[in-house]
Amino acid sequence: MTTLQFLGAAGTVTGSKYLLEHDRRRVLVDCGLFQGIKELRLRNWEPLPLDPGSLDAVVLTHAHIDHTGALPRLVKAGFKGPVFSTPATRDLAGLLLPDSAHLQEEEARYANKGGFSKHSPALPLYTADDAQAALHRFQTIGYRQPREILPGISLTFVRAGHILGSAICILELATSRQRIVFSGDLGRYDAPIVPDPEPVEYANALLMESTYGDRTHGELKAIDSLAAAVEDSARRKGVIVMPAFAIGRTQEILYDLRELEEAKRIPVMDVFVDSPMACDATPIYLAHPEDHDLDMTAMLKKGISPLKSRHTHFVNSVEESKRLNELTGPAMIISASGMATGGRILHHLKHHLPDPNSTVLLVGYQAEGTRGRRLLEGEKAIRIHGEMVEVKAKVITVSGFSAHGDWRELLRWADGFRAPPKQTFLVHGEAPALEALKGRIAQRGWPVHVPVHLETVQLDG
Ligand SMILES: [Zn+2]
Repeated sequence: MTTLQFLGAAGTVTGSKYLLEHDRRRVLVDCGLFQGIKELRLRNWEPLPLDPGSLDAVVLTHAHIDHTGALPRLVKAGFKGPVFSTPATRDLAGLLLPDSAHLQEEEARYANKGGFSKHSPALPLYTADDAQAALHRFQTIGYRQPREILPGISLTFVRAGHILGSAICILELATSRQRIVFSGDLGRYDAPIVPDPEPVEYANALLMESTYGDRTHGELKAIDSLAAAVEDSARRKGVIVMPAFAIGRTQEILYDLRELEEAKRIPVMDVFVDSPMACDATPIYLAHPEDHDLDMTAMLKKGISPLKSRHTHFVNSVEESKRLNELTGPAMIISASGMATGGRILHHLKHHLPDPNSTVLLVGYQAEGTRGRRLLEGEKAIRIHGEMVEVKAKVITVSGFSAHGDWRELLRWADGFRAPPKQTFLVHGEAPALEALKGRIAQRGWPVHVPVHLETVQLDG
């Protein structure tokens, strides 16, 4: 008998964790943190409904924290097995897991200082040492190289086109001849740097992400939207401040800026990447040719560095970062976090928001409750470091940037199956997205189910 339990990302977009049990073997696919509202975050503290020591292996689809961030806790709780990922996922997790541990430790320190934890002293979910212990469990497997990870269970990674290293995971069970496909997060078609999501021909059971199951990204290409916004801001000669995720989005923006400068669609200007993590992630992006699409490969072969514009400066030290306050335009500062919830971007926003010549470019999804969303909604003042800061700068939303395919792209990927999977489970989506995608898939005559948190299902042979 083969069962699957949904321990996360069921009815929501974070906390990805799926437990596969077969012939008394237990494999956990993804081990993510819950993020967002408190009710979800509290789940990070709940014990898993199994003894972590009895788990045989963990398989990771990609490095994002909502897919890997609970791993240090799992190791701390007694998990002793291997963690399988692609080589790039391991390298990016090497940046993300210690950073996540640092945030957990900060949060605990803050709670102790303020005395607003029920626990005394408040402890972090995990520490930097736990993150290192988790990283020591990694074993890497390249794309399209089937490996028997446990007796009778083999794993194949296929490119998912979401971020560097992202993979669709195919688990094959020898005794029952079952093939279970986990889509992980699926990227967009024709996006820069990484290749398109690769089709999979068949599956007995399919778990598919549904983030944009009810939305499309529109017809305007991200690069055209970026060109218009940069042109507009450059004309006013001010400083452009861009909150951007350090991994993925920053590299994509640099790639597009280079292309736009080459095509003389935007003026050449100084671009400062002010994020230690983006500085570390960019060489990792260059170091994994197995994750590059044809254009990226061709450029690297010609000796062109695709991940920087003409005058890109990577800013690592705090002193250099502070010196950017003296910057005059036209120039651009790209900094994290992507939704302006923390990080160095806050200093730049504080400095530039009151200046009518400055521009804030929003290049990604801005979740409810974040400063990014407040700016997007046109608030006249926002709170930064306890101070109200007036918003006089122009705020422009650049559409089209997303690491997730929209519903048309999700269905395009699903079209790769030669026959409908016997069972399709929709995960990693909010309720409206899940319902919309369920309708579209059911229309094709595929049996489809939206599982709830902690539901266990039996997988048919
Ligand atoms: Zn992701």
